[in-house]
Amino acid sequence: MKTLVLNSGSSSIKYSLFEMDDQSVLAAGVIESIGGSHSLHRYKIGSDSAISQTLALADHAQGLHTLFSGLQHNAILQDAAELFCIGHRVVHGGELFRQPVIIDSRVTEKISELSALAPLHNPANVQGIQQALNEFGSVPQVAVFDTAFHQTLPQHAYHYALPRSWYDDFAIRRYGFHGTSHYYVAKKAAEHLARPLAELNLITLHLGNGCSITAIENGKSVDTSMGMTPMEGLMMGTRCGDIDPALSFYVERIAGLSSAEIEQLLNRSSGLKGVCGENDMRAVHRLAESGDQQAQLALDMFAYRIKKYLGAYFAVLGKVDAIVFTGGIGENDSWLRAQCCANLAALGIAIDEEKNTSARAECLDISARQQAVAVLVIRTNEELEIALQSVDCVLNGGS
Ligand code: ADP
Repeated sequence: MKTLVLNSGSSSIKYSLFEMDDQSVLAAGVIESIGGSHSLHRYKIGSDSAISQTLALADHAQGLHTLFSGLQHNAILQDAAELFCIGHRVVHGGELFRQPVIIDSRVTEKISELSALAPLHNPANVQGIQQALNEFGSVPQVAVFDTAFHQTLPQHAYHYALPRSWYDDFAIRRYGFHGTSHYYVAKKAAEHLARPLAELNLITLHLGNGCSITAIENGKSVDTSMGMTPMEGLMMGTRCGDIDPALSFYVERIAGLSSAEIEQLLNRSSGLKGVCGENDMRAVHRLAESGDQQAQLALDMFAYRIKKYLGAYFAVLGKVDAIVFTGGIGENDSWLRAQCCANLAALGIAIDEEKNTSARAECLDISARQQAVAVLVIRTNEELEIALQSVDCVLNGGS
């Protein structure tokens, strides 16, 4: 049973083709710089080494055609009819989409209407969906939403203390993101602990270029650090995370910046990059090791913010079975994990330094012995989770 997962950005398409019978990756790749004369297609067939091609791809339609031709050329997929379904990552499902849904014209229209809430992402997702419908004809296509897992947040967690009409008229509330990843690692944690997810309280930390932390009670998301947009919450590679909203007005007055310029600065020039000039965590560590004090400050701030949220979510949940680190930073940065968990023995959290620095695995338990809270490092796999949810959605007739 072959399933294709597509993640369409404004000028890129990421894809993975799975054989769902054994969950193996038959092919995976990314097409970047669509719309230019130097579009780049990098892909891997199974475990072969990566292949790169430079092409001129005018739009997503040509990008998807290249992707399909490549799969045919490599004899991985001869005919679209071999696909059981296609799963699309869609960033914003608003309050409308609480679970994956089979795509039809009404669904596409609704995703398009939600573009006001995610102007950088939803229009690109819609473009990918429309072109995939053209390219792959009658194959069932499913939308899987980044926000869906957090639709279980209670009202007191998702409302902002703002005029009620802003919610009623403009849908302003906290939505949360990275839901597919939080859910995937939560399921893996349940497997590791050999207990049903519905009986577990977890705190999951997705730390990549974007970062978020989620409190999960009895298997359901009850709070998460990203809000109406992915800018709220933890400090990130280039995003500021939590700030005093009044500082925007102050900068507008004192530096004469427009709101669009401030938005751009908070999104693209803040976080690790704003504090020390680098947004890639490995580069920040290298700078800090060379004695750069701003880089050390950036690391300390990044870890401190996470620790504050850990404490807050511990209070939200009362009892925590496991803390899960995932994402490029969460999975690889043992220094950061140690900082976040330092001096928390009173909460039943302590890690074993030797386990913490041991080789990567799908799931690594780094807790010190006899602690109440397991500390796990779990490799996320959003593409596989999208594929699993898409197959499930098709088998269950669209809900
Ligand atoms: P995305 O959110 O775009 O999917 P990733 O989950 O791949 O990104 O995470 C990217 C981040 O992971 C970058 O900041 C990168 O520096 C960091 N990272 C990757 N490997 C390591 C490592 N060995 N140590 C520390 N950080 C790492």
